[in-house]
Amino acid sequence: MGVPALIVAAGSGQRLGAGGPKALVRVAGRPLYAWSVEAFRKASQIDRIYVAVPPGHIGSFTEPGIVTVEGGETRSHSVANGLEAIRAEGSPGMVVVHDAARPMVSPALIDAAVIGLEGDEELHALIAAAPMTDTVKRLGDDGVVIETLDRSALVSVQTPQVFRVEVLERAIADGDLAAATDDAALIEAAGGSVGVIESPSGNIKVTVPSDLDLAALLLERNR
Ligand code: C5P
Repeated sequence: MGVPALIVAAGSGQRLGAGGPKALVRVAGRPLYAWSVEAFRKASQIDRIYVAVPPGHIGSFTEPGIVTVEGGETRSHSVANGLEAIRAEGSPGMVVVHDAARPMVSPALIDAAVIGLEGDEELHALIAAAPMTDTVKRLGDDGVVIETLDRSALVSVQTPQVFRVEVLERAIADGDLAAATDDAALIEAAGGSVGVIESPSGNIKVTVPSDLDLAALLLERNR
């Protein structure tokens, strides 16, 4: 049996300034979230696709073959709602969580992440991440640099992220959902073990308008 996927698409898209949900903004001829749905459809390890959508917008998410779920107040609340819907229909061992804001995700990365977690019993989660290309500095409360971090030990975290369902459920039940910017952080806070899989450089996230232009160029090129 395959693994269910949860695409979180319930963000407001305020930073994009499109006047509506980011997931519905059209890029290269389709709503942004549809590109992720297509990649998950092509991934051989995935058998069901759930999409967490902004409350009040369920009717606008019309891609065939998806199950829509109302999202929540924060990203982690949206994941919690999606997980509840997935659990209502069965007891999968793993789940893949992905941000609709990353339309360039490849079926190969999704499959490699699922197979990677399946093959490593020590891990509770396996998350896509990219090496840091920028130098990163830590600032004090006054905005002045305290230190330069060792770039070789840092990664920039992305999605897809694959989880053992029971561990993620427990981490969500016990965690500070309002503070977590990804679900792996909830697992780490609960003492869980999170591995990383290197993602290709093209797995960009659409946050501000210029990201949308870049995504359109890359998606058209790959079409
Ligand atoms: O805000 P940000 O771009 O970091 O959000 C990452 C992903 O989480 C996006 O795909 C967004 O739609 C989703 N999200 C969500 N529910 C929220 C907030 C964000 O599903 N309440």
